[in-house]
Amino acid sequence: MNESRNAAVIAIILALTSHCHGAMNTIKIGAIFHGNGEVETAVLHHAVKQIRMHRTTGQFDLEPIIKTVEIDTDGMGAAAAACELLAEGVAAIFGPKSAYTRSVVASIAAHHDVPHIEYAWRPVEESELESTTINVYPPGKNVSEAIATLITAMPWKQFIAIYETDDGLSRIQDALKLHGPQDDPVTVRQLGEGPDYRSLFKDVATSRDINILLDVEYDNLIPVLEQAKQVNLMKDYYTYIISGLNFPDDRIIENFKDSPVNITGLGLMEDRKDELRDALKLDIRVEDALLYDALLLFKKALDALNLANIDADSPFDLVPVPLACNSVEKYSAGRNLTEAIRSETRVDELTGPMEFDQFGQRQTFQIHVWEFYLDRYQTIAIQENEGFRLTRSAQERKDDIESKIKINRYKVTTRIGPPYFMEIPKDSNEGIVIKEKRYYGYSVDLIHAISELLNFDYEFELVPDGNYGSYSDVNKTWDGLVRRLQDHEADLAICDLTINHQRESAVDFTMPFMNLGISILHKKPETKPPDLFSFLSPFTTDVWIYVATAYLAVSLALFFLARIAPGEWDNPHPCNPDPEELENSFNLMNSMWLSIGSLLQQGSDILPKAPSIRMVAGMWWFFTLIMTSSYTANLAAFLTAGKMGDSITSAEDLATQSSIKYGVVDGGSTSMFFKNSSNSVYQRMWAAMMEARPSVFTKDNAEGVKRVLGEDSKYAFIMESTSIEYHVARSCKLEQIGGFLDNKGYGIAMPLNSPYRTLFSEAVLKLQEQGVLQKLKDKWWKERDLKPETAECNKTGEATDDSDELELGIANVGGVFLVLMCGVSAACVVAILEFLWNVRKVAVDEMVTPWEAFKAEFKFAINIWAETKPVKVAKSSNRSSTSALHTGAGPGRAASVARSLVGSFLRLDMIDKFEKDNTSNTRTGNQRNN
Ligand code: ASP
Repeated sequence: MNESRNAAVIAIILALTSHCHGAMNTIKIGAIFHGNGEVETAVLHHAVKQIRMHRTTGQFDLEPIIKTVEIDTDGMGAAAAACELLAEGVAAIFGPKSAYTRSVVASIAAHHDVPHIEYAWRPVEESELESTTINVYPPGKNVSEAIATLITAMPWKQFIAIYETDDGLSRIQDALKLHGPQDDPVTVRQLGEGPDYRSLFKDVATSRDINILLDVEYDNLIPVLEQAKQVNLMKDYYTYIISGLNFPDDRIIENFKDSPVNITGLGLMEDRKDELRDALKLDIRVEDALLYDALLLFKKALDALNLANIDADSPFDLVPVPLACNSVEKYSAGRNLTEAIRSETRVDELTGPMEFDQFGQRQTFQIHVWEFYLDRYQTIAIQENEGFRLTRSAQERKDDIESKIKINRYKVTTRIGPPYFMEIPKDSNEGIVIKEKRYYGYSVDLIHAISELLNFDYEFELVPDGNYGSYSDVNKTWDGLVRRLQDHEADLAICDLTINHQRESAVDFTMPFMNLGISILHKKPETKPPDLFSFLSPFTTDVWIYVATAYLAVSLALFFLARIAPGEWDNPHPCNPDPEELENSFNLMNSMWLSIGSLLQQGSDILPKAPSIRMVAGMWWFFTLIMTSSYTANLAAFLTAGKMGDSITSAEDLATQSSIKYGVVDGGSTSMFFKNSSNSVYQRMWAAMMEARPSVFTKDNAEGVKRVLGEDSKYAFIMESTSIEYHVARSCKLEQIGGFLDNKGYGIAMPLNSPYRTLFSEAVLKLQEQGVLQKLKDKWWKERDLKPETAECNKTGEATDDSDELELGIANVGGVFLVLMCGVSAACVVAILEFLWNVRKVAVDEMVTPWEAFKAEFKFAINIWAETKPVKVAKSSNRSSTSALHTGAGPGRAASVARSLVGSFLRLDMIDKFEKDNTSNTRTGNQRNN
């Protein structure tokens, strides 16, 4: 009886046990992991635990069977593991992840109708899945597209793509396809063997690529970025896009929170990956989360199918039976289960909403674009199957940049050039210090004003080569400030740096803070000391010689022609109708007198009567008319020439002459303007500048100004109007010539695609609107470092000079006075000689001593009250010879004139004495004359 009782209890227990067991409906699931599969195993168990916790009566329990295999290229290990799992009777196989092994597992599973669930990325070209495979990882096509769209949205024109594996290359292929033949170059590099990748990153650093698309294995990401950091590639302006779907990646925050670099990446989960990590205390990657979700998905499908099966008319057995790999046996519910997962199940777990198409591809997913910036992650865009949408507003982005500006210390590169940046004595407390030297200037003030608006810290440096920035067609590189920004050695460049098209392609510029144009700087024409004989200038020496020769020739012609012209022989005594002699008034003296009289526009009392002489005179008068008019016309110009302005008034004037050389700053925007100009005048000027020897190019504006001042008006410097204005205000000898050849502006430059450009531009505009820019300009142009004397000359200079300009001083006409003085002096000498000659004659004629004759003559001459001279009637005609000489007339008339004149010169008593003493002599003379 006891035996039968015991047997009944055992039967009940067994029945109960079997009932309980049957009620639990345990279903085995298989998984194949690579390596030790530690994390995946933990995830799997965690998922099963979760499922168990939430399991309700009638639902299946899951019993995982895990196989770990090494990755082998022929997939043999994985195939064996799959067969082992089938032999255990699993309802599904999860994994493996490797591209080498998953296909063989998929095909074995498909062969036996066992659902196969993948949770790893699959290349686009392998997108077709086996009949029972479901891939919970978003399709490769979509991931690749998301990366490409992100690159377009950034926007990256030029970038370098670094990949580690073939899968990685496949992931970024859509991004590479974006690059058309006209686009900027894209470099593609494979990471290489490792573990030292620094040489690759050194290449990146020298290539000046600042946008890096990085596709490396999850475990390798941090070491790779560490090495990039070691070669200084993890700094401001560098932007990384990390492919793979592991963002937000906490390892980046841990390792690079102090790097001002921008790292953008993609992620599938918002931030629910943390739940898993917190539960497992393990580093969780996207595949792990996907495995977790895949298990939940499987369980949900299984439950749904189970429910449907219970109500079905002809239910099938969901519990799988062990299957042999080499048989054709199939899992009877496999197809239904696959179908249930693919088309009916929807879960929304760690990796977001998950639905599938009929081919097992994931249909619903959300790829988030995460930006790591300023120590934190934020979603900036979302890629869904409908497309890509930005989630961060422009204002949010601006706010981010604004907060970033505040924590940065900017390096401002500049060059020395007044008044933008100038050295000052060390003991001054103005300005800023670079290497123990103090500097101040417009640029320092402007950066300071902007820094107060935007709240940032800055330090200045001097650009090592001292150049503005020009592109070398030979080396294909930039120099100067532009190069400094390109190398990311500085964040801002400020000076009189002109915004132009070529530079815009290499760096970014803010709005212009100053407007200007190219113009010409020249030395003011110096007022030459007027030439004493400038009245001779209207004619050349040759012309003067010709005029003098013509004068002599005409005078001689008059003289000789008059001698042969009968009409010029006159009766000396018109009252005598029958003269014995005729006289001709055109002796040599009179001929010359007539010519000179008419040459000087005065005329003379001797006029010709004979037709031939009149013709000669007429021609001479015509000649003198033209010559005098020409002389007069030219004289005014020559007398004022020294005071008149420069003959160069524009660039065209410069281009059409060769005596004044002109140049520009070498490698500056002004030289680029001429070099690239299509205007024929400027092209000609550029050719002239290139050919000029010695070179007309200067290192900077200061050298150009020095040459203008030093080269005696033979050098003009073409520079920008603002600098001209500055130098003209500081030197009375300089002036601007002509207007502007172009219009442009100076801007603050920063590296290409700088996120700060908009903020700096806004700050410049604000300063302009507040009048700060004008105040700064006035300060540095019109107030600082202005010597009182130059200020004075600039204030008064033009007005007074202009009025003085046309008046002639004594210096201009002094020569005429000199000629007058010389002429009058010569006349005085001649008069004295004449007087002395006369005294001698008188002394001889009147037989007095020359001294007595001189005294008598002189006394009379200085007696200015004596208006008449008494005529001494000579006793005899013996004085006729003297008289004839004295008047120069004919012998008969001469005698009488002489008598009267000589008599008038001598006092009677003197004559009496003279006569007494010399009676005999006189008589002798008389007799000789008679
Ligand atoms: N400001 C000019 C520049 O940026 C210099 C010049 O050519 O005058 O290059």
